[in-house]
Amino acid sequence: TQFSDLGLAAPIQQALAAEGYTTPTPIQAQAIPKLMEGHDLLGIAQTGTGKTAAFGLPALHHLHTHAKPRPAKGCRMLILAPTRELASQIAESMNTYGKGLRLSAITVFGGVPINRQIRQLQAGVDILVATPGRLLDLIDQRALTLKDVEIFVLDEADQMLDLGFIHALKRIVPLLPKKRQSLFFSATMPKTIGELADKFLTNPVKVSV
Ligand code: AMP
Repeated sequence: TQFSDLGLAAPIQQALAAEGYTTPTPIQAQAIPKLMEGHDLLGIAQTGTGKTAAFGLPALHHLHTHAKPRPAKGCRMLILAPTRELASQIAESMNTYGKGLRLSAITVFGGVPINRQIRQLQAGVDILVATPGRLLDLIDQRALTLKDVEIFVLDEADQMLDLGFIHALKRIVPLLPKKRQSLFFSATMPKTIGELADKFLTNPVKVSV
């Protein structure tokens, strides 16, 4: 498989070429066609496998080809990550792959003042990358709603649980629309993680690399 075989919008293919990507990694080759069809996905993959582009490219393609106004105080794609470092890396990748598209991505995490984040969210955003605790703070302050989320990604679920985010996740998931595409990534899949995945995936395609 080549990236040109995957049906991604031309500006995305151009961004990949500019980054020097020629061939999809195994998780990309397996996941991208299924995600383009709208399936949910359960991915067992570590960092370094290309998982960010695996979930990011089809999502950018969807947001671009189904263009909509940014939802006020909302987002169309929500990506949850366990740490600010990972959240920042994901946002940077989304901006790189989406640089030819008119899509906005912002990152929100704890440990920094919330007011700037509240202002940034006011006009809405296409892609929001967040850590769970700060996401809930923003929701509790009525600065953010999740009712417009079309694509939801939970990245590094095992690390999320290790860091004690289970209660936050259990509060966040019911706030998402029922009709959505959900993606769940974890490096390991012990029973607790599998049960968590079952709760918010519908007939997921499973990919393990
Ligand atoms: P990730 O697993 O998403 O953290 O990606 C690991 C690294 O691989 C990142 O530095 C990406 O820029 C790079 N990468 C992802 N997909 C490809 C690809 N198909 N070809 C070359 N490099 C890639």
